[in-house]
Amino acid sequence: MLNNLPTLRVAPTTGSADGQLPPINVVIIGGSTAGIKTAQSLVKTYTSQQVRVTVIDKLDHHYHRIGAARALVDSEFAQQLWIPFTNLFHCALLDSTGGHTHQFVQGCVTRVEEGAVYLEEQDRIIPYDYLVVATGSTLAPSVTPEPPNKIDYLLNLGYSRKGIAQAQHILIIGGGPVGVEAAGEIKHAFPEKEVTMVHRTTELLGSPLPLRFRQQVTQRILDLGVEVILEDSIDLMDESNLLSAYNLHQMIPNQMLRTFRGKTITTDWVLQTDGARINTDFLCTLQTDGVTSLVGPNQRVRVLPTLQVKDPKYPNIYAVGDVNDLKCIKTATNALLQTDILLRNLKTCIRAKMDERQGKAPKRQVKLASFRDKNDTMYLALGPQKGICLLPMGFIAGDWAARFLKSRDLALTGKWRQMGLEMPVSPSPSSSMT
Ligand SMILES: Cc1cc2nc3c(=O)[nH]c(=O)nc-3n(C[C@H](O)[C@H](O)[C@H](O)COP(=O)(O)OP(=O)(O)OC[C@H]3O[C@@H](n4cnc5c(N)ncnc54)[C@H](O)[C@@H]3O)c2cc1C
Repeated sequence: MLNNLPTLRVAPTTGSADGQLPPINVVIIGGSTAGIKTAQSLVKTYTSQQVRVTVIDKLDHHYHRIGAARALVDSEFAQQLWIPFTNLFHCALLDSTGGHTHQFVQGCVTRVEEGAVYLEEQDRIIPYDYLVVATGSTLAPSVTPEPPNKIDYLLNLGYSRKGIAQAQHILIIGGGPVGVEAAGEIKHAFPEKEVTMVHRTTELLGSPLPLRFRQQVTQRILDLGVEVILEDSIDLMDESNLLSAYNLHQMIPNQMLRTFRGKTITTDWVLQTDGARINTDFLCTLQTDGVTSLVGPNQRVRVLPTLQVKDPKYPNIYAVGDVNDLKCIKTATNALLQTDILLRNLKTCIRAKMDERQGKAPKRQVKLASFRDKNDTMYLALGPQKGICLLPMGFIAGDWAARFLKSRDLALTGKWRQMGLEMPVSPSPSSSMT
């Protein structure tokens, strides 16, 4: 049945306007950190008569997830996190016709096959010569949007914000970067509320971050008045926690949860920040060489250091950012550093393909670059005024540096600029709490 799906309208594939060869189709799944950088670099380098770029995202706007923790307490900020895709290709080189045919498609990719991406809910197939998988991961609904559109997300988040505002006691499950930032934002907006955080390891955050940084982060969270329970966890599937599991991110006064070590926590509102789900389901249909699976046991795409998937059958499929299994901390900074390598390699391959299409003999052997994890930084905001930063060579800086580097607007103004738009109202920290 799927074979009969109509192909998404794309500009002619038999030849371009100036009688040249048809464009090379690059499809990017995921319009976020890695996906946007990839798309914008390609459209700046090639006209759409040479390389046509399609970006697909299930969301109707770009969602600036770095600001997700502040959105829990600041409604104006929550709205500004959604940036229209309308001017995504503002930096595109123009074709000989004076325009371009790059496109953004809103839809959920449900299946990938050799040469084609499927959006089954919309009965659409999009062909590709090169595919970039940049689908990242999904956290709890208050942190990663569940509804694909801004309006429904804001509605849902409004309930969460109301719940937080009413709750006396808030429990945060997971003391990774998202949990830490959520605690900081909640304590900034509501210093009087009781906040408890439960985390599996001996200090907040996790390896490979230096222990000294983790100890200082734990101390900063304690200084904010947060109760921190370490070396313990909460299994929401445990019988005694089911009520909370089914009513996550809702106000239920005095619900009782049991930790793995048998401690009882009484709370009014629960925020789950651990347990990221990697968005790779749609890759399971791709036929592999029969030896290796494209998706590893941790649900991450198995890639080579060149960012190509680890299957010699598909040198034209890349996976970049949070979605892949490269050993590095999963941050936007690393996603962008990986994107630099991806772009070098993709452009090298595109150049070789263009030569091949024009019947030119390859000039030299194609040599691809490898990603090496060199990034050892992490910036954590604890509300708009405070934070803590791990800088290169292990230096640790406090509020002043954090405010300058991240906390003030959580890189939102720059993201609007990157999307070719002006932010409607500048985020004034703490101007519109709840
Ligand atoms: C609260 C918070 C604070 C953070 N702070 C920082 C920070 O200060 N510094 C830093 O470096 N990093 C930070 N991060 C991490 C950073 O946001 C991620 O590492 C980064 O966004 C990863 O980028 P990505 O492009 O790989 O994937 P993502 O940003 O996860 O984007 C994936 C995109 O793919 C789309 N998608 C998924 N599945 C499909 C599908 N089937 N079909 C179509 N589209 C799909 C999604 O809608 C999404 O837009 C923070 C994260 C959070 C949650």
